[in-house]
Amino acid sequence: MSKLILHNTLSNRTEPFISQDPDNVRMYVCGPTVYDLPHVGNARPAVVFDVLFRLLRHLYPKVTYIRNITDIDDKINNRAREIGISIRELTDETLKNYQNTMASLGLLSPTYEPRATDHIPDMISIVQKLLDKGHAYLAEKHVLFRVSSDPLYGKLSNRNTDEMIAGARVEVAPFKESPLDFVLWKPSSNNDPGYDSPWGYGRPGWHIECSAMSAKYLSNSFDIHGGGQDLIFPHHENEMAQSRCASGVAYMAKYWVHNGMLLVDGKKMSKSLGNIVTVNAALKEYDGNVLKYFILSTHYSKILDWTAGGLTQAKASYDRLINAVGEFEDTHEDSKFDEDDPIVSALCEDLNTSKALMLMIGLAKRIGQSSKFNEKSRLAGQLKAAMQIFGFSVINRNYALTKDKQEEINKLVSERVKARLLKQFQKSDEIRDALKQRFGVFIKDNQDGTTDWSLE
Ligand SMILES: [Zn+2]
Repeated sequence: MSKLILHNTLSNRTEPFISQDPDNVRMYVCGPTVYDLPHVGNARPAVVFDVLFRLLRHLYPKVTYIRNITDIDDKINNRAREIGISIRELTDETLKNYQNTMASLGLLSPTYEPRATDHIPDMISIVQKLLDKGHAYLAEKHVLFRVSSDPLYGKLSNRNTDEMIAGARVEVAPFKESPLDFVLWKPSSNNDPGYDSPWGYGRPGWHIECSAMSAKYLSNSFDIHGGGQDLIFPHHENEMAQSRCASGVAYMAKYWVHNGMLLVDGKKMSKSLGNIVTVNAALKEYDGNVLKYFILSTHYSKILDWTAGGLTQAKASYDRLINAVGEFEDTHEDSKFDEDDPIVSALCEDLNTSKALMLMIGLAKRIGQSSKFNEKSRLAGQLKAAMQIFGFSVINRNYALTKDKQEEINKLVSERVKARLLKQFQKSDEIRDALKQRFGVFIKDNQDGTTDWSLE
C-alpha cells in the first residue's frame, strides 16, 4: 500500500507520515471566522484538507477531523453592530452559509465543527494552567502569555525571538513584560460580549480557542494540524506554545501542513482593490466540481492564481472526466482501487493533486481510445474510484441522461406508480432503489398522489 509523505512546516522537511494511533488518525484545521460570505481564498484550505481527509480515510480505518468555528472575534462584534443584528444571529447565519457553500463544492463535513463560544470554560481552564505554571501573568485585567518562558517559541515559524523583539512595533501595550507576549484573556466593556472568569468579565484572545478545542476533541497531542500559510505566525506559533506549555507534551501536533496563498489575477484579494471573489459568485458561473478541480490543479503548497483562463481550462478538464465515466455510469459496479494505484500513490506524495488529476485525464483519454467495451468499462471503474477520492460527482448531470435513459427512467417511474396503486410496496421500493443505483435518480412522491424524479 502507498505510504503517505507530507511536508511538515515544523521540521521544514517532507517526512513519512506515522500516526500516533493508526486506529484513529486525528487532524485539526483552523476554520472560518463567521462574519462574512466565504471567498475563494477561504475555500482553498477547506478543499485541500477535504482531500487529505478523504485520502486518510482511504488509508486508515478511522479519521477524526476537527474544523473549528471562530464565532468570537472583534470583526464579528463590529459587523453585527454595523448591520444592527445580534452577534448570534450574524454568526448562525454566516455559519449556515459557509456550510452550504462548502457542501456545494462537494466537501465532506468534518467529524466535528466546534464553536468557540461553546468552549469558554475549556479556554479558562487552559489559561489558569498557564498562570499556575508561570507561563502567563495578569496585568491590568489582561492575562498574557510569557513568551520568554517557552524556549521553543519561534520553532514553527522559524524565527528567533531576538529578531522578533527588534521587529516589534513601537506601540506596545505598556503593561506587557515583553512586546512578544500575547493576549490569552482580555477585559470586555459593557458593549462587548463577555464571560465571567477568575480575572473578571472578559473574553478570550483568538489563539486560545484552538488550543482548547483541539485538546478537547483530539487530546493534547495529535497527528496533523492544518491551515493557510498566513496562520503560521502568529496564530499557530502561539497555539503551539500555549498547548505545549499547559499540558507538558512534546508536540501539540506532530505534522503541521500549510496551504499557500490565493491570488486573483496575480494580485492579493482585498477590499480596497475590490477584487474579492466570493465562492457564491464563482458558483454562479461554474459548477462546484469545476471550482474544486481548479483549486486542486495547483499543488497545495504553491501560490494559486485565480484566473478566468485557468477556470475555463479546469472546466474543459473536468468535462473530459465526467464524459469518460458518464457513458459507463450503470455498467460497472466495481470502482475500487488497485493496491498500488498510481493515482493514490500521487496523492500520497505530499498530496500531489496536480499529478493525480493528470493521471485521471490520461485514463479518460485511454477510455476514449479503446475499442474494447470490457477494457473501457474497467478503466471507467478506475477513473470513477479516483474521482470519488477527490469527492467529484460521478453523475453527469448535463450529459448523462440520453433520450433512451430518460425513457427508461420514465417507464420505471410509471411502473412504480402502478405498483403503489396496487399496494405492491416491496416492488415499489425495489424500483425506487434501482432508479437510485442505476441512474442516481431520486423519487419524490407528492401529496397530491403524483410522482416526480430528480438527479442526485
Ligand atoms: Zn487555529
